[in-house]
Amino acid sequence: MVSPHRTKRPWQGKTEKSAVDKKPSYDPKCYLCPTNGRMGGAVNPDYKKPFSFVNDFSALLNDVAPEKFEDGLLYAESESGICKVVCFSPDHSLTLPLMTKEEIKDVITLWQQEYEELGAVKGINHVQIFENKGDVMGCSNPHPHGQIWAQRSIPQEIQKKSDRLLAYWKKKERSILEDYIDQELKLDERIILENDHFVTLVPYWAVWPYETMIVPKRKIGHIGELSSDEKASFAEIIRKTTIRLDNIFETSFPYSAGIHQAPTDGIEHPEWHFHVSFYPPLLRSATVKKFMVGYEMFANPQRDITAEQAANTMKSLGDVHYSNIQ
Ligand SMILES: [Zn+2]
Repeated sequence: MVSPHRTKRPWQGKTEKSAVDKKPSYDPKCYLCPTNGRMGGAVNPDYKKPFSFVNDFSALLNDVAPEKFEDGLLYAESESGICKVVCFSPDHSLTLPLMTKEEIKDVITLWQQEYEELGAVKGINHVQIFENKGDVMGCSNPHPHGQIWAQRSIPQEIQKKSDRLLAYWKKKERSILEDYIDQELKLDERIILENDHFVTLVPYWAVWPYETMIVPKRKIGHIGELSSDEKASFAEIIRKTTIRLDNIFETSFPYSAGIHQAPTDGIEHPEWHFHVSFYPPLLRSATVKKFMVGYEMFANPQRDITAEQAANTMKSLGDVHYSNIQ
């Protein structure tokens, strides 16, 4: 449901305070900065490139025996896994849009290693790479970082996508996302960015005001399959996409972003086509966010601006970060 006329209504509700203070490059109190101690007692090395470690407060533990519980309508299974933290940079003041293409490439290299290594662990069937950015998204530390949760079962969102990708693959022997991207490129109504190997667009089904998606043009099942040219293109489009998000309201744009890719369950997944989705909550300014409440909670998602308006806005914003324009 799309109702663009709603953004005209007067707003007297909650505003989010825009973070304008320039952060220091090193914060002695930050538990992710190089050489600092963490809550669990470990000390970070003096890392110069992206750095990962097992989360000191992991939601998943890997030494859990498989167990099932059934009692009438109630059913449960034990879950096991590994949670990691990925620091994108030693520099506390940076975010992905403020990093260089080469620095983002190093982040992708670490994501690739983690996907391969965690995915190869016995009993790990899915590796979820994601980033929560900004305190409105519940991110407790401003140091540039993301997380990885790797686990035994396939999470629901992935299973739903797997089922749809597989159904289309069985019918056409093509990736549904490959055909979707072809159609979007022809229409050119929701495309924000395009390079040799990737496209950024506002998906037709987007529910968040500036929801965006980065998709490789060729069917690539997971990030481990990227060629070196594709990896450079991927870094470039992550940089440009996040710059445009920041430029919308000239603020460090909060979001949850995640990579959906082939499960690591030891089965061939010719149907999978990896992609990155950004779910950012801001709607009308750096301080006014979209609430998914009321009708959205009880009935159906509803958009306040059209996907085409959002794409046009982002398309017009340019590739220079607002903080570097004087
Ligand atoms: Zn830090």
